[in-house]
Amino acid sequence: MEIQYVIINFLILVAILILAGRKTVKRIFGGRYERINSELDRVEEIEKMSVPALQENSAEAFTVDFSEEISKAEGLVAEKTASIEAFTEREKSEIHRGMIEDARKELFSVMKDNVVNLFSYEKYRNAISELDRPVIDEILKRITLTPGDMAYLKHHDVLYVTLTSAYPLAKDIVDDVDRVTTELLDSVGGKTSLWVLEDETLIGGLRLRIGDTVYDGTVAEELYQFGKNLGREPIMHDDTVGHLIQEFTEKTESFRPQIHKYQLGRVMTVSDGICWMDGLADIMYGEVVEFECGERGMVLDIQQNRIGCVIFGEFEHIESGSRVRRVGRIASVPVGECLLGRVVDAMGNPKDAMGYVPYTETRPIEFKAPGILDRAPVNSPLHTGIKAIDALVPIGKGQRELIIGDRQTGKTAIAVDTIINQKGKGTVCIYVAIGQKDTLVAEIKDRLEANGAMEYTTIISVPASASAALQYIAPFSGSAMAEYFMYEGKDVLIVYDDLSKHAVAYRELSLLLHRPSGREAYPGDIFYLHSRLLERAAHLSEELGGGSITALPIIETLAGDISAYIPTNVISITDGQVFLDAELFNEGQRPAVNVGLSVSRVGGAAQTPSMKKVSSSLRTRLAQYRELAEFMQFGSDIDDETKKALSSGRLLTEALRQPRYAPVEDCMQTILIFAVSEGFADGVTPGEIEKFEKGLYSFFRNERADLALRIKEADKFDDELKNSLKEALSEFVKRS
Ligand code: ATP
Ligand code: MG
Repeated sequence: MEIQYVIINFLILVAILILAGRKTVKRIFGGRYERINSELDRVEEIEKMSVPALQENSAEAFTVDFSEEISKAEGLVAEKTASIEAFTEREKSEIHRGMIEDARKELFSVMKDNVVNLFSYEKYRNAISELDRPVIDEILKRITLTPGDMAYLKHHDVLYVTLTSAYPLAKDIVDDVDRVTTELLDSVGGKTSLWVLEDETLIGGLRLRIGDTVYDGTVAEELYQFGKNLGREPIMHDDTVGHLIQEFTEKTESFRPQIHKYQLGRVMTVSDGICWMDGLADIMYGEVVEFECGERGMVLDIQQNRIGCVIFGEFEHIESGSRVRRVGRIASVPVGECLLGRVVDAMGNPKDAMGYVPYTETRPIEFKAPGILDRAPVNSPLHTGIKAIDALVPIGKGQRELIIGDRQTGKTAIAVDTIINQKGKGTVCIYVAIGQKDTLVAEIKDRLEANGAMEYTTIISVPASASAALQYIAPFSGSAMAEYFMYEGKDVLIVYDDLSKHAVAYRELSLLLHRPSGREAYPGDIFYLHSRLLERAAHLSEELGGGSITALPIIETLAGDISAYIPTNVISITDGQVFLDAELFNEGQRPAVNVGLSVSRVGGAAQTPSMKKVSSSLRTRLAQYRELAEFMQFGSDIDDETKKALSSGRLLTEALRQPRYAPVEDCMQTILIFAVSEGFADGVTPGEIEKFEKGLYSFFRNERADLALRIKEADKFDDELKNSLKEALSEFVKRS
């Protein structure tokens, strides 16, 4: 009998809520609808404000003024025009998007107030109290003891149970909770202590907490979940405010508390972006927690009686004693095509003016690297377009090649040029800027955009001013974004600029977490940290789609000291290094690749056969030249042979010079190196080599394109090919 009443009551209540809710929502939203529409009209007006109209008006207004005033005004107009021209279609739609985002927030807060108001009426309060019974029955059916509770019971015999509601509960409900929880704990030999509390902020409904686990059937929780999901929904271009209101009305109509299960903990101390907490019995390493103020953090330390986490955002608002909740997932970031062309922070939030990232998928930031059987050998080249690298330290897809050098030696330049050179090659690029200046990142973005490289690139920017936690996470986030493409079968290039700053951020975190420090005060697991990261670069086997991640970590050395702790670590993890020499850089030899100290342990297998053949003796010849050149400082009496070796070495070194943002295709590099090392450039002075190079490229591009293609695609650089190349080169030399 009783159950029938419950059902009837429940149905009546739902009907009341729907009717009353709809009316109130319509009444309140009606006015807003108009207001928002008028604001949207305003945006349209801004969009309509075309550039010529502005110029006309201003010209009219200023013709009668003093000349000085005119020129001033003209300057102003030019400035304005420029700023409106810079207003791209995308930015205009961004204004629109921002408005809808704001409208959404406003609507949500209205709805919240609306619901709170509703429950100040006794009628509705009674109606929701009727739901207490079915809600608590459902909760009591669900409750279990977690491993964390069992562990707690080993040391304490009492597990606390708290029953909280907005309004006083019926006695039979309290009795039932007491009975069921006592039985549950009896079954494992423990005791309970039940607390019954009232809390008006819950608005309506009730909440049962056992140990650290909460079963929440309150209106407040429902609103919280609703608001959270709202923030996650993408805002589409065709999203109109009318559409939005309809969506809201539907949601409000179907508004009914459900039971949410989560775990709670308590903030013990907060300092410098680190928070120590207790509770959260079953939390795992790397999990995300959420503080009352909405800020989030990631668990990085689990001890017997306290849990340490790093806070992603601002920690000033987190209070000692406030609640912290388990979000129920490992830290993860948005992934997918939607990130291409974007600048985001370490958590994948937009940092450009393009608004919301419309992602549909996420990946955990820490992911197991592919095993041996999942990998294929490195066998296809990843051309950097930089002569000194492609010829001497070739990089293959799936390789990890370290770029190392002192500060200001062109490390970033190499990475950026490599990204630019991937245009049209189907490789996705991810540039992770750790601890770099914002201006530098903006400059890189502009450069990439100007070269059409932003289309296939994502920049993750975590400036030096960001928290150490975000700097620590950034490369892992980048790696997660890269993995998405790799497992889709694509090739990815990821640049970590730079891992020295990453190591410093991790050292800071570790020291704040009171971990023992080791060599150079870095924590003992820094090696593990970087190897875990770089192992994720791989060339997958055919069965797994054959995708790859090529990693270019960057390390900054102090006074060329590659035997310091972090450099030696990363050198031993990677498959080779490009060593940039400050001395060479200052001599004007740019890129300043030090041939003697640079190696590529696996890339040779990935060179095209022609390049491999042509560049085989290059390394020794260059080394010989540097040795001779140094020796020659002591004397001037030299024989002809040495003279010849010196001048050809000098020419070769000159030929390897390259300005920024000017990648050279692989076959052109091959032709140039062949030409110089076979003596076709002997009549050229070192100063003229650039001109020679340009002429050579245009000759082969325009007149001997067939031969260039053959060189590119040949399986073997045989005598026949060699002779045709020699013949073409003689013709070129004859002509110039
Ligand atoms: P930092 O240590 O500050 O990160 P870095 O090693 O990354 O510096 P870059 O910022 O790439 O060095 O380059 C330093 C300077 O050298 C820049 O002004 C850049 O324009 C110049 N430069 C780099 N490569 C070349 C090049 N190939 N030709 C001419 N100039 C170059
Ligand atoms: Mg740099």
